[in-house]
Amino acid sequence: MSLNDDPAARISALREQLNEHNYRYYVLNAPAVSDRQYDKLLKELGKLEEKYPQFFDPNSPTQRVGSDLTSEFQSVDHRYPMLSLSNTYSIEEVRDFYNRVEKETGGATYVCELKFDGTAISLTYEDGALSRAVTRGDGVTGDDVTANVRTIRSIPLKLKGEDWPPFFEIRGEIFIPLEVFKRLNQERECSGDTLFANPRNAAAGTLKQQSSAIVAKRGLDSFLYGLAGDDLPFETHWQNVNKAREWGFKVSDRMRLCSSFEEIERYIAETDTARHSLPYDTDGVVIKVNEYTVQRQMGTTSKAPRWAVAYKFKAEHALTELEKITFQVGRTGAVTPVANLKPVLLAGTTVKRASLHNADQIALLDVREGDWVYVEKGGEIIPKITGVEFSKRPQCSVPFVYADICPQCGTPLEKIEGEARHYCPNQTQCPPQIIGRIEHFISRRAMDIEGLGEETVTLLYEQGLIRDPADLYTLQAEQLSPLPRLGEKSAANIIRSIDKSRSVPFHRVLYAIGIRFVGESTAKNLAAHLGSMDAIIKASPEELEQAEEVGGKIAVSIREYFADPRNLEMLGRLREAGLQFEAAPKEFVSDQLDGYSFVISGTFQRHSRDELKQLIELHGGKNLASVSSNTDFLLAGERIGPSKLAKAKKLGVTIIDEAEFDRMICSPDTDTIDSDGPDKNPTAGADNDQNLTEVQKEERQGTLF
Ligand code: NAD
Repeated sequence: MSLNDDPAARISALREQLNEHNYRYYVLNAPAVSDRQYDKLLKELGKLEEKYPQFFDPNSPTQRVGSDLTSEFQSVDHRYPMLSLSNTYSIEEVRDFYNRVEKETGGATYVCELKFDGTAISLTYEDGALSRAVTRGDGVTGDDVTANVRTIRSIPLKLKGEDWPPFFEIRGEIFIPLEVFKRLNQERECSGDTLFANPRNAAAGTLKQQSSAIVAKRGLDSFLYGLAGDDLPFETHWQNVNKAREWGFKVSDRMRLCSSFEEIERYIAETDTARHSLPYDTDGVVIKVNEYTVQRQMGTTSKAPRWAVAYKFKAEHALTELEKITFQVGRTGAVTPVANLKPVLLAGTTVKRASLHNADQIALLDVREGDWVYVEKGGEIIPKITGVEFSKRPQCSVPFVYADICPQCGTPLEKIEGEARHYCPNQTQCPPQIIGRIEHFISRRAMDIEGLGEETVTLLYEQGLIRDPADLYTLQAEQLSPLPRLGEKSAANIIRSIDKSRSVPFHRVLYAIGIRFVGESTAKNLAAHLGSMDAIIKASPEELEQAEEVGGKIAVSIREYFADPRNLEMLGRLREAGLQFEAAPKEFVSDQLDGYSFVISGTFQRHSRDELKQLIELHGGKNLASVSSNTDFLLAGERIGPSKLAKAKKLGVTIIDEAEFDRMICSPDTDTIDSDGPDKNPTAGADNDQNLTEVQKEERQGTLF
């Protein structure tokens, strides 16, 4: 619209759209539009608000920091507000920023840094030790994610040297390196989980995981780039950040001190080239005034400091014609629309196909066959369509009608509530689903059956030799050797490899059968927790949820899988074929904790949480993910989750600390472990403070955490 049409309506529509995009980006970590499109809308709103100040609203997205606050973490107030950055895609606007600072303050030096594309974090250190890690939240209040951040190896828990202030805050970015991101998405694809849109969303989503064990496995990394505190050693940003490197923080060596606009411009140009070979995503350059006195002179707006600006790189994009939209059906039945494009060169590769994600995305972009579309390649594996060039839309264009039947087998598609994708429910007869499941079954990390690739599996399926994974175990070399591209030697190799897979450990069998959302590590946890296929088949959702990483959604999916008689029938044939349906027995150090179950929460001085879990198992105990009436002990560390603690108290679960636990496994003859095993209620009758653990003492004073 032209700005004068109905500004009030346009302002209101833009605010509504931007609030929705903020929610999707910061809370769901699943943006629907590209950053550039978002920034365009925000700019339009900013201009309208400037022109029509009567519509000013302090809650407008132009005035507020986009919020990542969730209800699952404890909210804490930031000591110093954690703002956003003004950003621009134009070098001229960077020059304006430079001129403004020079004019208003009489001159400054500038620190140029990479703009890491992750999620912001504020770390507090007290007496040289990490005491708190908080997300940006809404800039005033953030989510306390300390337990998760403690698992990130590049973040020091204790600082080196001795010249750090007794209390200070350091800020930086948590991110996922590109290699790790690719691996993570490959694993999610294998387990039928929704893929992360890009490394930023993966990092932000991971940091908000409820289980720090999952966070620890995700390979998060960090760069720190700013300090705040009352007694920092220096009066400049550059000196303080370099000092922080000496204390053990990971500080980028790509920072540069500049004293003229030309130097800043050169840094931007160099970084725009260098960024393509970096092992992590960057989306621009941040230019900060170096001297704190000048920073204070420039001040801040409600949303961002006036002493810094971010120059954002344009994501590489190309314009091309969308010839046709087709549909792909995966092994879980998920249907993905694919844009078939007139080939176009983008960031060094020729792109012919791009993902359109789902029906909502097609509707949101209003993309149609025959349109000219913008294709973008960010950190994503598959390029995506980010917009339509409406000026090139052909006259005869008609809105795209999404498929209502499966393009492969003709079954009406279904949409699961809360999910964006459509599914083909015909698991047993839809060819790509059957072939996909068999391919997953034989894959290297599952049953590792060599000699069978995608083509051979399709061939065997087309020849009517296999209909599900169990059929593989009935194959004979004589059936395979006459087939095209196979000979006697390959046939014998395939049969040998199928045979060998009979000894693949149970947890990999569990992963191989392809239960939706059960990836490798969930399968391992389930196998360790329940021990056998039969136990898993019989387990209630509550029992399943006791296994690490298994939440409600996964438990429902497991129950659904075993409720289907066709799956049980196939499992029966796999069992007959001699596959491992039981976990190998564990080696125990002692049986001191036999029959007792533990929930671990918080952080500990002497052991990591993983070590504690191992110790529990080695001594015959069981680890549970959440507190329930089946829990015997809550092993409570520092900063224990308040909900876990409250639940434990309500259910009368015995709460012990690390020292108490060490006593339980070290000296079987102490008070806490009598001949019948650990005392279920060590506090009972304890009227002398000396007999109480630290946790119990605090509990008694009513000041626990
Ligand atoms: P931002 O990401 O543009 O800039 C501020 C952030 O930059 C900081 O919070 C920090 O996390 C990060 N940063 C990285 N390196 C830094 C460094 N060296 N120094 C200081 N900070 C550094 O701002 P934002 O408020 O987090 O997000 C706003 C942007 O996010 C928008 O401009 C838009 O591009 C994107 N966004 C996109 C959508 C969408 O739907 N696509 C929605 C909301 C926001």
